[in-house]
Amino acid sequence: MDYEEYFKASVQKIKAEDRYRVFADLERHSGNYPHALNRRDGAAEDVVVWCSNDYLGQGQNPIVLEALVEAAEKLGCGSGGTRNISGTTHLHVILEEELAQLHGKEAALLFTSGYVSNDAAISTITQLMPDCVILSDAWNHASMIAGIRHSGCEKRIYDHCDMAHLERLLKEIDPARPKLIAFESVYSMDGDISPIKEICDLADTYGAMTYIDEVHAVGLYGDTGGGITQREGLQDRLTVIEGTLAKGFGMVGGYITGSAALVDAVRSNAPGFIFTTTLPPPVVGGAIASVRYVRQHNELREKHQERAAKLKQMVADAGLPLMESVTHIVPVMVGDPVLCKRATDMLLADYNIYIQPINYPTVPKGTERLRITPSPFHTDALMEDLVGALVEVWQRLELRQAA
Ligand SMILES: *Cc1c(COP(=O)(O)O)cnc(C)c1O
Repeated sequence: MDYEEYFKASVQKIKAEDRYRVFADLERHSGNYPHALNRRDGAAEDVVVWCSNDYLGQGQNPIVLEALVEAAEKLGCGSGGTRNISGTTHLHVILEEELAQLHGKEAALLFTSGYVSNDAAISTITQLMPDCVILSDAWNHASMIAGIRHSGCEKRIYDHCDMAHLERLLKEIDPARPKLIAFESVYSMDGDISPIKEICDLADTYGAMTYIDEVHAVGLYGDTGGGITQREGLQDRLTVIEGTLAKGFGMVGGYITGSAALVDAVRSNAPGFIFTTTLPPPVVGGAIASVRYVRQHNELREKHQERAAKLKQMVADAGLPLMESVTHIVPVMVGDPVLCKRATDMLLADYNIYIQPINYPTVPKGTERLRITPSPFHTDALMEDLVGALVEVWQRLELRQAA
């Protein structure tokens, strides 16, 4: 048996489909975001990062760094165990209280990542119900899909944000069966937002639980960064609000918030929570500082929105095919995987602009795009450089213009 051949064949297949991924080897300059050093072919060049999910630049906030270093010095680095076996530090307890407050919920539970939180929580919550059915938005993130698969429950997929379709599916299910509707608030490849209130209304009518992934909204929306559910005053209506510490909060880790009973049940049953070492105390200390800072600094959110609106305007004014987005995400359509990759290679090689191409399977084939994420630290001058470079690349590769 030549095992190596199978590994090589699998990569060949991906290459043949033009979706082989090459990672940029970056060294971010703390204090100088969004600038970074990019190592490539033995050389290192300064680039401007335009595709980070460190949306608010919290990864370099001096207050966060100070809290992280202080926690490391006081408590050491690794937590030394699972939550049950000596891995619960007081910082974990404080962070969970902070996150429960952020979302107006009774309790919160930390996981090692947002991915793990979705996988563990969705599978556990639904497995606790007899014969549960999961209703899932067609565009849900891979981590929610993993949770649904691992639940072993029946799943029904509704067309993206299509409330009539969701209602039709709900109607077909025996009213006596438990149901969970799983969806995101901000869909981060298009920058659209779910009709959360309508989903909650349907959930009430048909007796379903609701599970919302606010990963691309926590820290960024609502008076204190509680996400779209906070902005729209809907926090009470969701059964579970899930989030990450890795994007708006610039750290790493994931969490769910919900009723005390639900969180206790997940805490007591989810293997992805129980059988793994907890987040390192320095990460948790930094995350506490970040969440507190972001809650208090609404001007950061305002600046973030202002930057995104400005860039969208500039992209549209330049005649580039800006995709409709009602959020901080600035997607620009290319519509071809090879050209999408060539455009981003050209931006990096000739303009020192780093944007990762977004190709299948992250987005449907034929909708390959650049996904640009301006932060409060992307200045007007950087935006002018970016749009100038995009216009040139669009001409050089004869990419499609705005409709
Ligand atoms: C990034 C992402 C996650 C995973 O969060 P991590 O903390 O990066 O593991 C979950 N859901 C959505 C929608 C995401 O985009």
